[in-house]
Amino acid sequence: MAEQAPYFNELKEPELNMRWPSIAACREYIRDYAIMKKFTWKMPKNDGDRFIAVCVNEAKGCTWKFVARVSQAKRGDRHTCMCKTLVNEHTSSCIGNREFRNTLVDSNWVAAKLEEDVREHKTVYKARGIVKEIWKRYAQEITYFIGWHARQKIMERIHGNYEESYRIASECCVQVRKRNPGSIAACRRGVDERLKGMCISFGSCLKGFREGCRPVLGLDGCFLKGKYGGMCLSITALDGNNGLFPIAIYLCRNECKETWKDFLEALEPELTLHEQKLVFMSDQQKGLREVVEELFPNSTHRFCFRHMFQNFKKDNGGGALFEMLCWGAARAYKESDAKDWMAKIAAEDQGAHDWLVKRNVNTWSRAYFESYSTCEHITNNFSESFNSWIFELRDKPVSTFVFEYTKMVMCLLYKRNSKAKTMDSNGVVPRVHKIVKKLEGKIGDYTWHGAANGMFSVEKSKDDCWLVDLNTKTCECNQWQLTGIPCVHAVCIIATSRLPLVR
Ligand SMILES: [Zn+2]
Ligand SMILES: [Zn+2]
Repeated sequence: MAEQAPYFNELKEPELNMRWPSIAACREYIRDYAIMKKFTWKMPKNDGDRFIAVCVNEAKGCTWKFVARVSQAKRGDRHTCMCKTLVNEHTSSCIGNREFRNTLVDSNWVAAKLEEDVREHKTVYKARGIVKEIWKRYAQEITYFIGWHARQKIMERIHGNYEESYRIASECCVQVRKRNPGSIAACRRGVDERLKGMCISFGSCLKGFREGCRPVLGLDGCFLKGKYGGMCLSITALDGNNGLFPIAIYLCRNECKETWKDFLEALEPELTLHEQKLVFMSDQQKGLREVVEELFPNSTHRFCFRHMFQNFKKDNGGGALFEMLCWGAARAYKESDAKDWMAKIAAEDQGAHDWLVKRNVNTWSRAYFESYSTCEHITNNFSESFNSWIFELRDKPVSTFVFEYTKMVMCLLYKRNSKAKTMDSNGVVPRVHKIVKKLEGKIGDYTWHGAANGMFSVEKSKDDCWLVDLNTKTCECNQWQLTGIPCVHAVCIIATSRLPLVR
């Protein structure tokens, strides 16, 4: 006899008077039994109290038969189901066929077998993973198609139904607005009433952005992995400690100019309440640049350099030298340094140089960024972090997505709030304390002398000499302006003259 699949080891042979707590449990047992023995049964007739199964080859003369009946248990406490008839013999042609693919192994059966794994142990299956797992446990070959359907069924059983979820999306928005005053929560529907987009932004996040974040906003989109696919567009900010700060999400069918416009239009009145000019950062995908220019004419829009460099490599070829030169040009703080890097690129390949210039240095080279943002980021890594943060939500129906997203944001804000209470009351966040502490260790290399009115000259060597102005909080090296954090030159003066970090 062939080796038993591991998950069938516990399965007993059926016998007369065997009992189950319900007809469903009995049917499940006899289905497992048939799958293990590699035959198929059908149900000729059924009523509420009886379960009858006969071999699928009944017409060819097979007499295999199983009948169970529900009976009131003796003390009347529970219905039980008992095997009343059993003919456990087949004609030789029913079993043992190597090519046999059991129709009892359908997506319902597969879903039932793996549901607990997903529910209890949070196992994440893709359709192919399900195909493999069913083979490993039960030695049953299933198609990708059955695996995919089983996955949908498991997700629906655990997280609710996708169609229903789209229908109740509007009610979901009403709840968000009611429970979080100042929130934006709205559905956009097409002429056919189908859901086109769902925008969620909590009042507390908008307030936090206005009052505690720099004016920098990352725009990005990621795919949803549920039954109907779709995209989650997001607007993300960074708090003072460089912690991810979610501002808004937009669940929609695809990422295009129209969906970005719907999303940003809904947020525009709130975002522009920030007292500084806004700085957007994105991959400038699919019409996004035009939309931002149209809705936020006073803003600037950075192009994530990691993404831009990918494009650069496609058009100009890569290589370690270009990697170093291009990132050098993007990372430089001083305009003169950025120009040096660009000159080196031009010397190497004029076409590559022109390619970069055409993308407008203001959008990707740090030395040209406006200093009011005090954010020197040249990549949108924080949008990527947001996409991983919501990874677990990405295959859920929309209303489950919103419900769980709400919980995640609430927890995040609560944690940040508790942490903030332990921070320096002058408003200097731990990240800045750490940076300044590190710089304090380096000031032994420098000498300095005061000029007039808070101006100082700080020098390491003849070629490494900088003018620091404490009044305007600037240094010739441009780092203090761009990051909002004193550079090593400024720290020389602040640390030795015992000036407070914040004035
Ligand atoms: Zn049979
Ligand atoms: Zn400096």
